[in-house]
Amino acid sequence: MTTPQEVLKLVKDNNIQMIDLKFIDMLGTWQHLTVYQNQIDESSFTEGVPFDGSSIRGWKGIEASDMSMVLDPDTAWIDPFMQEPTLSIVCSIIEPRTGEPYDRCPRQIAQRAVDSVISSGVGDTVFFGPEAEFFIFDDVRFDQNSSSGYYYVDSIEGKWNSGRTEAGGNLGYKPRFKEGYFPVAPTDTFQDMRTEMLLTMAKLGVPIEKHHHEVATGGQCELGFKFGKLIQAADWLMTYKYVIKNVAKKYGRTVTFMPKPVFGDNGSGMHCHQSIWKDGQPLFAGDKYAGLSETALHYIGGLLKHAPAVLAITNPTTNSYKRLVPGYEAPVNLAYSQGNRSASIRIPLSGTNPKAKRLEFRCPDATSNPYLAFAAMLCAGLDGIKNKIDPGEPLDKNIYELSPEELAKVPSTPGSLDAALEALEKDHAFLTEGGVFSEDFIQNWIAYKIDNEVNPMRLRPHPHEFALYYDC
Ligand code: GLU
Ligand code: MG
Ligand code: MG
Repeated sequence: MTTPQEVLKLVKDNNIQMIDLKFIDMLGTWQHLTVYQNQIDESSFTEGVPFDGSSIRGWKGIEASDMSMVLDPDTAWIDPFMQEPTLSIVCSIIEPRTGEPYDRCPRQIAQRAVDSVISSGVGDTVFFGPEAEFFIFDDVRFDQNSSSGYYYVDSIEGKWNSGRTEAGGNLGYKPRFKEGYFPVAPTDTFQDMRTEMLLTMAKLGVPIEKHHHEVATGGQCELGFKFGKLIQAADWLMTYKYVIKNVAKKYGRTVTFMPKPVFGDNGSGMHCHQSIWKDGQPLFAGDKYAGLSETALHYIGGLLKHAPAVLAITNPTTNSYKRLVPGYEAPVNLAYSQGNRSASIRIPLSGTNPKAKRLEFRCPDATSNPYLAFAAMLCAGLDGIKNKIDPGEPLDKNIYELSPEELAKVPSTPGSLDAALEALEKDHAFLTEGGVFSEDFIQNWIAYKIDNEVNPMRLRPHPHEFALYYDC
C-alpha cells in the first residue's frame, strides 16, 4: 500500500513536472488529464480533481457535467514514454457535490463487485489473471466515414503482406499458416519488441512472467503477468495495453486487441483465470471433478447459466462474435472441462498446490472493459455459489468434433452482439443485485451499444457483399 504522502515525496524526489491523471471510460479506454505538479496535494486523494465529464463516451450529459477524479496512490508510476518527468496515476470517479462514487465509473463498479463477495460472507479476496492476445501490424488504414467502411491491415509478417518492402521484405522465414506458436528467430521476428514490452511493464510494477508468439501468422503475440486482486489485475491490464501499444509505436508498428482482425486465422482472446479466497485459503480447491471444490462447481454453474448475458460485457463488440466460431481455439459452446481448450471454461492443470486451483473462462476478449468484465463474471459466479447452481456434467471431448446429436445438447455462445445484448436485457438481476451494476447502467450500456455499434454496422454495405452480390 502506498500513501498519498509517499506519492507526493516521489514527485519531489524525482523532480516530477507533470502528473498524468488517468481514468477508465465506459468502453474500457484510458482517458487522461495532465496537470502541473503543484496542482496535486493530499486532498486530491480524497476530494479529487475536478473535470468536465460531459464529452466522455457513455457518461453524463452536458447539463450535469461536473465530475471529480480521485487519485489512487497504489497506481503511481513514472511514465517511460514521456519526454519530461511525468507521473501517471489511475483515478476513480466521484460526484463532486456529494462525494459519492459515480454510478457509471467502471472502477467503482468493480469495487462494488468485490464488496458484494465480502458482504455475502462467501470470501474476502478475488483473484483475476487475464491473458490478452494481440496482433502487431505494420500499419492499418481505414476511413471511418467511407460508405463501405473500407479498411485493410498491412503486415509484412503475415500472408496479408501488401507488397511493402521497406520494412524488410524478406519473407523467407515467415511462420507457416497456423504455426506461429512458436518457432524461434528468425521466424519469430518480434522477440526484441516483446522483451522490451515486458521489461517496461516490470519497471511500472507489473509482476511480469513471460512472452511468446501466438498461433496466427500475422504477428499475433501474448505477454504474461501474474494474477492479482481484481482491481489491481484490471489496472495491470490497462498498463499492459498502454505499454504494448507505445513500445510498438516506437518500432514503427501498430497493435490491435480487436478479437478478429484477420479472416481465416486465429483471433485474439482475453482468457480470464479466476478464484475466490477466504482467510488466506483458496476456496476453489477440493476433492470434486478436476480437484475443484463444490463452491467452484457452483461458481461454474452460475457463470455458465448467465454466460449469454455476461458476454454482452466480456465480448462487447460486433467483432467479438467473429472470433467465437469453430476451429480457432476460441470457445463456441457453454461447457466446462479439464484441459479442453474448446470448452468455454477450462480447469487448467495446477499440480498438487491447492493455491493454484482456478478456472479459466475463455470467452472474453480485450475489447472489453476489464473492470466491468471481471465484475460481471464475478457476479455470475457468486450467483451460482449463493443459489448452489449445478453446472451439469463436464465435457471432456473436443467440442469441434462432436456429432450433431451430441452438439445439440450443449448450449452455444451467442452468435452476435445483438443476441448477447438481448440476453442481457432478459437476464441481469444477478448484476444489479446488491447494487453492483445499476439498472441505469445496464440500460445505458444496451442503448449505447445498439445505437453506436450494432446499428452503424448493420447500415453499412460490407466489402464482402460486393463479392457476393455485385453481379446479381
Ligand atoms: N487465440 C485463441 C482464442 O481466440 C486462444 C489460444 C490459446 O489457447 O492461447 O481464444
Ligand atoms: Mg494465448
Ligand atoms: Mg489461456
